[in-house]
Amino acid sequence: MTERILEDFLQKGVEVLREEDPLLEGLLAREHQRQLNTLTLVAASSIADPSIFACLGSAIGNLTTEGYPSRRFHGGCSIADEIECLAIERAKIAFGARYANVQPHSGTSANQIVIGSLLSPGARIMGLGLNSGGHLSHGSPASLTGQWFEAIEYHVGQDNWLDYDEVRRLALRTRPDLIVAGASAYPRSIDFARFRAIADEVGAYLLADISHISGLVAAGEHQSPIDHAHFTTTSTYKQLYGPRGGLILMGKDHEQLSSDGRTTLSQRLQKATFPFFQGTPSLNTIAAKARALGMVATPPFKLLARRVVENARALARELKARGYDVLTGGTDNHMVLLNIASSGLTGIVAERALEECGIVVNKNRIPGDTRSALVTSGLRLGSNGVAARGMYIEEMSICAELIDRVLSSVQQLDERHYTLDEHIRAEVSAHVQELCTQFPISGYAG
Ligand SMILES: *Cc1c(COP(=O)(O)O)cnc(C)c1O
Repeated sequence: MTERILEDFLQKGVEVLREEDPLLEGLLAREHQRQLNTLTLVAASSIADPSIFACLGSAIGNLTTEGYPSRRFHGGCSIADEIECLAIERAKIAFGARYANVQPHSGTSANQIVIGSLLSPGARIMGLGLNSGGHLSHGSPASLTGQWFEAIEYHVGQDNWLDYDEVRRLALRTRPDLIVAGASAYPRSIDFARFRAIADEVGAYLLADISHISGLVAAGEHQSPIDHAHFTTTSTYKQLYGPRGGLILMGKDHEQLSSDGRTTLSQRLQKATFPFFQGTPSLNTIAAKARALGMVATPPFKLLARRVVENARALARELKARGYDVLTGGTDNHMVLLNIASSGLTGIVAERALEECGIVVNKNRIPGDTRSALVTSGLRLGSNGVAARGMYIEEMSICAELIDRVLSSVQQLDERHYTLDEHIRAEVSAHVQELCTQFPISGYAG
């Protein structure tokens, strides 16, 4: 009876949890319910298929398997080897890559592994500044990457677009050993070919971090960095709609010799992942990555990715039409950035007021921001979740309308405090509830 073994196991787990730990079971059930009943417009999240969680909840999580397929430090790994090889093959197919490492525990780990595989502490890395939309792991002083390496920041220009001539000038002046191209809060396409030309000119490695846009890259909705960058990294839980984890990919440079003249870049990377940075990989997560990467290569996913972009464009257009200050005037990807200070609000106030009405977004620092990361002058919205629920252009117009109804009636008292009209809150909450009922999360509702 192997055909029902997974179902019985998962069901048993839930039964025991309810029986023995109702407190925790109740919290998890409430969180599930919250997701069903809120309009999540968080650019850094998505909604994983229930089959992803089935992989995460399977018994393969018991396995300890240091090493790589067919070179493990423990016995009992032959099925795990098949699963890891499947994940690797699917990653290569999904992205047209020549090499894939599916073991990184997160996007941050993936970046540390790439940087640590090539450079020694004190080497120079150049990444997009946090305020311009870069990520902590690209050389922020708050991160290992900024403390153990000499970090140089490039920034977006006055118009909030990447200025490649400026990036080139800075690279020529500072001669970094590695350049990171990629962002957490940048609504426009990134020209990885241009970055590679700059990297080649100064003799730097290029790391493309596509954590936010990996779904668009896989679906052909964004230029692929695979053969432009030496390394490409991504989180797997954002636009790949997969489990929490990371992925490293390489294209045509995978067999390039590294600076020691003996080992190739991919060999260096292999050793940096294990044993330099990590120990045993998370096999249930790798199984879930295999599932997500399998889904990413299908026609329905291509359609979803197209809708993600179309939805974000529509949202940007509708918010702009209502007088909001949309950074760069629009978007090429899933993300819409607002200068909410232009509307007389702080990011934290806007975020809280919207959440009271069932709309979840996140405050975000924006270029030139003078407020702290916990207050901010910006708001970041994303369409991954709403597109997965089947919402489309028409619903984005409703979303913009609801957002505007809340934000235009907020009375901000100081940077963190405000009042919101009770009538507006009730009305918008009811609309949100209606939308969520009309567009349920597939497979989540009982
Ligand atoms: C989210 C993000 C990461 C970090 O991923 P985690 O899996 O959360 O560690 C790295 N780079 C960029 C650009 C990101 O947006």
